[in-house]
This record gives sequence, C-alpha cells and structure tokens, in this order.
Amino acid sequence: MADTISLYVHIPFCTVKCGYCDFNAYAGSDHLIPAYSQALIKEAQLWRKATENRPVTTVFFGGGTPSLMPVEEMRTVVDGLRSAFDIAADAEFSLEANPNSLDEPYLAGLLGLGFNRLSIGVQSFHDEELKALDREHSASEAGDAFRAARSAGFTNVSIDLMFGLPEQEMSSWQGSIEEALELEPDHISLYALTVEPGTPLARDVARGRTPSPNPDAQADQYEWTEERLEKAAYEHYEISNWAKPGYRCEHNLTYWRCREYLGLGAGAHSYLDGARFAVAALPTKYLELVDESFKSLENGSDTKMRQVVSGESVTPELDMADTLILGLRLIEGVSLPDFHEGFGVDALERFSEELSEPFEFSLVEHVDAHLRLTPKGRLLGNEVFARLLPD
Ligand code: SF4
Repeated sequence: MADTISLYVHIPFCTVKCGYCDFNAYAGSDHLIPAYSQALIKEAQLWRKATENRPVTTVFFGGGTPSLMPVEEMRTVVDGLRSAFDIAADAEFSLEANPNSLDEPYLAGLLGLGFNRLSIGVQSFHDEELKALDREHSASEAGDAFRAARSAGFTNVSIDLMFGLPEQEMSSWQGSIEEALELEPDHISLYALTVEPGTPLARDVARGRTPSPNPDAQADQYEWTEERLEKAAYEHYEISNWAKPGYRCEHNLTYWRCREYLGLGAGAHSYLDGARFAVAALPTKYLELVDESFKSLENGSDTKMRQVVSGESVTPELDMADTLILGLRLIEGVSLPDFHEGFGVDALERFSEELSEPFEFSLVEHVDAHLRLTPKGRLLGNEVFARLLPD
C-alpha cells in the first residue's frame, strides 16, 4: 500500500491575540477569511499531483482559531481538500476550537462536514486566570461549549489546559483538572506556560509587571497531574497528552513518529518526500504567493511553489536525530529494533556520547527494547533533546 500522509491546515485568525502566544495568529484580519479559503483550495490543487498516491489518514485544522470560520466557508475548504486529496473515509478529522465560538448549530454543521474530533482550548476553569491570559471566554462558557459538543454528537472531544501560570496555586490548578474530569473528555492536553520572546508576556516579565512562571511549581503540578489522570484511567501517551483508551490523537502521532505530512496555509510546515519546508507566514503574502503559483500552474508556465519560502532536505543524520527527539516525547519512547531497521545502525551506539549524561542523570532509560524518558526526564526533556540535535 502507498505511504499515507497527514494533512495540516492552518487558520491564522483570532479575535484577540493572547499575551503569551507566539503562534502564527492574527487578530483583526477576519475580513481575509473568504480569500484565505480560496487560497487554501488553490494550494491544495498545487499539491494534488505530488500527493496523488498518498492516502490521507488524518486531517487537522489548527490555528489560530479555526472555529472562527463560518460553516459555509469551512464547507468550501473541506470540499476543496476532498477534491485534491485522497482522504480516507475513516480519516481522523480534527478541529481546534475556542469555547466562545462554539454553539450547537455550528458544531452540528462541522459534524456534517466530516469533522469527528474536536479540541477545545479551555486553558483554565478560573475566570481570573483566563482574564490574565487574555482569553475571551469564561470558565462557564468552556463547560457549555464542551456540553454543546457532546449534544451535537461529537464522541471524541479533547480539552487543552495550561499550567504553571504566574502565581498559580496548586489548589487552583487542581481545581481546573477536577472540573475537566467532571466533563469526561476523551483526551486531555496540558501545556506549561512558557515565556516566548517577543510576546507581551515576555515584556511584562522583563519589566517586572508579571512574575516569571516558576519551574518548580510547574514540576509539582505536572507530577500531581500525572498521578491524578492515571487514577482517572487516562493513558499518558506523550509528554503533554493523555487519552482514554482508543482516543490518542492520530494526527499528532504522525509528528512524533516522524512520518510525513503536508501543511497548508500561512506559516504551515511540511515534511514531505524527504524534505522539511515552510510556507510564508504573513496571510497577505501567503495569498499573493499562492495566487501566483496557481496562475502559473493553470497557464502551464511552471509548477513552482512560490509560497514555500524555506526548507531543507532531511539528511540521514537529521532524520535519526528527529526520530529520537520526536519519539522520546512518547511515553513508550523509541523502538530500538525499528530504529535499527530504518537506519541500519544501533541508536544506543550511534548516540552513545550524546546520551551518556542523560543516562548518568537518569533522564533516559532502556526498557523493553525501547529508549524512553524517565519520569524525571519528562520534566527535563529539553535537556535531552538539545544534546541530540546535530551540529
Ligand atoms: S486563541 Fe490561541 S492561537 Fe489565538 S492568540 Fe490565543 S493562544 Fe494564540
């Protein structure tokens, strides 16, 4: 069977830009949505030939706030994707959503288009924390959005929460987790707040207006949560992700297993035919470049992908490092026999120098023919990953 791929679609529009966010997302640009939908369809057509023997097994609309797109606009895009790609009938079809843009008719519309997985960005079940994060929804709206998703018929719903907020007490974090568990989501993603350079949060921290997130408090919260979610029968399958049996996010597993995917939309990244590449980030630039590429394709002058503005071929060295770095994010770790089969080398021998300190400090372990992070290593994963990056 032909190699499958995953499809990522980036929707870069948000109603406000949250102070901590460094994603490729823009507030106040919703007027571009209709032109952006058309550009996505054109970009899909540009890739049609190159992907014609690659069945698509997962589709993920991320952002930004994909749920800002009206259903009719979404229909145009989904139809465009289906006509350009061979999307499997049972493909996982996910959409990231913010609670304040969800109601039952909208959600029913999404189900009608084939979406079967919803990931709701709740972040906290405390209004004062949501306010501090510049989130536009309240805690009760988040609960309402989740219940609306269930009533509309979504059977696979994930909740995102953020921990390690400045001055966040353990009890407050525990409260958010308990509220989330009451809703019985199928999947939970938990991210530590990080201060990204260039964001308003980074400026506030630099000026002493906001305290820096406390890594010790974050570690305590993470460890408590690992135990709590295990008791609630969630499988911890990736550093930041937990799922009820059968509800792991297949799309994100594509990334962690270092398999190929195509990203569409402004700033989207791809890993296709042995190369990693990225599309122009600014939506207006993206629209312009996709249009030029599409016109050239139509009039037969060339098949150049002008919207692709950077990229590199993945050398075997890089491929091995990516396989370890991404695979170590999974709780099961990296299968050493599979690594040997794929690259013809023994990972422990080839990376013995890079892994010597992580082994010495018990950040990684070799168990059941897998190399994996230890519980302590999950808190300090970046220390391990940085050592594995090629020079
Ligand atoms: S809603 Fe999400 S993508 Fe948009 S600004 Fe906030 S954190 Fe960033």
